[in-house]
Amino acid sequence: MKSNIKMRLLSKVFQPLITIPKNAKIKSTEVTCKSQKLLLECGLIRPTSSGLFAILPLAQRAMDKLERHICKHIEAAGAQRISLSSLTPASLWDKSGRLQEMGPELMKATDRHGKQYVLAPTHEEAITDLLADVGPLSYKQLPLILYQISSKFRDEHRPKHGLLRARHFTMMDAYSHHASEDCVLNTYERISRAYRDIFEGLGLKVYRVEAPSGAMGGSLSHEWQAVAEAGEDSLTICQRCQHAGLEAKCPRCGGEGEVVSSIEVGHTFVLNTRYSSPLGACYTDAQGARPPLRAACYGVGGSRLLAACVEAGGRWPRGVAPYSALLVPPKEGSKEWQQLGWSAVEQVYSQLSVLPTLRDDVIVDDRCDMTIGKRLMQANRMGYPYVVVMGKAALESPPRYELVCESSTQLLTMPELLKTIDTIDHGNMAAEKVTA
Ligand SMILES: [Zn+2]
Repeated sequence: MKSNIKMRLLSKVFQPLITIPKNAKIKSTEVTCKSQKLLLECGLIRPTSSGLFAILPLAQRAMDKLERHICKHIEAAGAQRISLSSLTPASLWDKSGRLQEMGPELMKATDRHGKQYVLAPTHEEAITDLLADVGPLSYKQLPLILYQISSKFRDEHRPKHGLLRARHFTMMDAYSHHASEDCVLNTYERISRAYRDIFEGLGLKVYRVEAPSGAMGGSLSHEWQAVAEAGEDSLTICQRCQHAGLEAKCPRCGGEGEVVSSIEVGHTFVLNTRYSSPLGACYTDAQGARPPLRAACYGVGGSRLLAACVEAGGRWPRGVAPYSALLVPPKEGSKEWQQLGWSAVEQVYSQLSVLPTLRDDVIVDDRCDMTIGKRLMQANRMGYPYVVVMGKAALESPPRYELVCESSTQLLTMPELLKTIDTIDHGNMAAEKVTA
């Protein structure tokens, strides 16, 4: 099995598969939803402690892709990426009043000098303090939109549903600062459109729902709810006008609503001066006065979104699948195996890698002691967008391969197969362009 090309091999992937018996008794804190079960069984995540998880290589690849997807859309809306420390001085939270308001939900730490910190679940205090510290921005520099993607912490009373309610999670959080309320609302709508593009690009059905602002404060807020069976939230969708809300009757047309389960994947808030006033962040206006900055903030849960993707459908959304394509070579000792040899596998691998949308994104299921059927079963469970099988027809001239995708199986020559994948991927990208 000497090879001159470097193939990615499934046998080398750190993916500890576990089996949960069908009728096993499950404690309330354990496996309670589809995404968690799948992520655990497929060796994508591993619980390490209550509400804490290790993200394993395949899930990390998906998460990296998801982050790039989010960055692309949020930066197109004008946001600049930064990185703030997870440790934020407790004194800031005291100034904003949230040290008391959020109380036991905040994860806290103390350093050797006795100084207290909050392991931040969100960064309104930190970002406002940063803007107060650099001194007043000029009104000409506004609006300013900053964002980050980082670990967040929340001391959940009862962590459950795997990544959906964990104590450590990934979040994209953006903060926009403005001179006028009009500008706040304009930017708020622009970022809302970016949110829609993010979710549509993942093939998720997500509704923007007006919500109470809670401990965050401010004047207006929306929850972004993805329709999903295992969701612990619910929303009402009007049968007549599709308006989504939290109330039973449609406030827009009075129509009857249908209640569906959902996962909150994002939350956006118009904060105005809720944080800039107590923390002293202002700007210089045209007359030289220094009024407080007006702000809005935007959060998208990274690990939650990943779980929602898994929860929503059988296959990974094309853009975030850990690998776009899986190549399944013949079973060891079979006629195909003997006649084709390993070099044929390498050849197919390089042919697939020619497609720009598959470059560095094909993996070979080289566990060839297993039958093709068994490997296909696991592949379906994992939900790779494309599975290419080297079966009996690979011996024909020209050779043909099975392409399993979008719940159909076709027997195709290599040029046909590449064309099919290219057409599907092109369609996906065109679809994303239209929404942008
Ligand atoms: Zn309605």
